[in-house]
Amino acid sequence: MPLIPIGEAGRWTNYHGTGVCENAARFALRSGDAARGRDELAIAAAAVRDWLAAAQREGKRVRPLGAGWSPSNVNICSDAWLLHTRRFNRCFRVASGDVRPGVDAAGLMLVEAGALVDEVSDKLEEQQRSLWTSGAGNGQTFAGAAATGTHGSMVVRGGIQDHIRAVQLVTPGGVHWIEPAAGVMSDAFIAATGSVPLRDDDVFAAAQLPIGALGIITALVVDSVPKFLVRPIQNLRKVDRVAIDWLAAGDFRRFSAAYALDRDPDFVQMIVNPYKPFKRPSDAAFPLCRTMARRLRPGDAGPARRGL
Ligand SMILES: Cc1cc2nc3c(=O)[nH]c(=O)nc-3n(C[C@H](O)[C@H](O)[C@H](O)COP(=O)(O)OP(=O)(O)OC[C@H]3O[C@@H](n4cnc5c(N)ncnc54)[C@H](O)[C@@H]3O)c2cc1C
Repeated sequence: MPLIPIGEAGRWTNYHGTGVCENAARFALRSGDAARGRDELAIAAAAVRDWLAAAQREGKRVRPLGAGWSPSNVNICSDAWLLHTRRFNRCFRVASGDVRPGVDAAGLMLVEAGALVDEVSDKLEEQQRSLWTSGAGNGQTFAGAAATGTHGSMVVRGGIQDHIRAVQLVTPGGVHWIEPAAGVMSDAFIAATGSVPLRDDDVFAAAQLPIGALGIITALVVDSVPKFLVRPIQNLRKVDRVAIDWLAAGDFRRFSAAYALDRDPDFVQMIVNPYKPFKRPSDAAFPLCRTMARRLRPGDAGPARRGL
């Protein structure tokens, strides 16, 4: 049984204790032991659809939960049925025969919705691959992090949701496999997951960042990059006001060239005292400055640091 009730209806409090669901009946979606991911998804998606139908019959609102980390009230819903997805967390490799012609399967991974960002990173690392960014913590579920647009810090990359290439979404009306119009997974693979393909750029964009509002996400196809190292440079610096304008204009390269490495940085952070950001008479800020630049190859230390 992939979907089971847990405990009596009652109170559920989110991770930060910022919100409480009253009179919540709780259920858990759990991974099985099928050899192939597509078979797991077919079983789980059918169970979720039955659960939604039962909730509809009972006149209950529903809310899927990831790790419950959102400090806002997006994971709060009273007099409702809550679906804990945290134990639905297996990850599977994607074979070249599972994708459409012309799609490179090398960096793709099939991820059950409740897998933590941390767990996905571990699985990718086994293949010498990596997410290109993640949040400050990595205990969110992949679906929950994507649903709320959890952002990382990579300058030229988007948030967690930008890793997604396809989504399995369950609604009372059906099990949908949502992809961009160009498509990603083969029709045979999608059929085996018990889903109907929906290839549309706008629908896919909505499914990447749905805030729990479109339906229950049961699985995602996640993209990755080859594993990489970064060179972090961190120190207290005197930063001129004009350099803050460069940051405001998104000219991170210029900032990095002046204060760290003469290279496009992948990450830039300035931590200032908000009560006294500038010191007179120099009119400069003295923040804790941190930049990170990707090493181009193992052992590459990057060019010499500037102005230290
Ligand atoms: C220590 C810590 C560090 C953090 N760092 C960052 C950071 O660096 N950057 C940042 O942007 N945020 C950060 N956050 C916020 C966090 O990433 C988000 O709150 C994220 O939503 C948490 O994911 P979750 O799995 O806990 O989702 P939940 O809080 O459980 O749910 C969030 C939303 O997603 C929906 N949802 C969850 N699972 C599904 C599903 N399977 N199908 C459909 N909808 C679903 C829920 O219904 C809800 O609306 C941090 C939080 C903590 C506690």
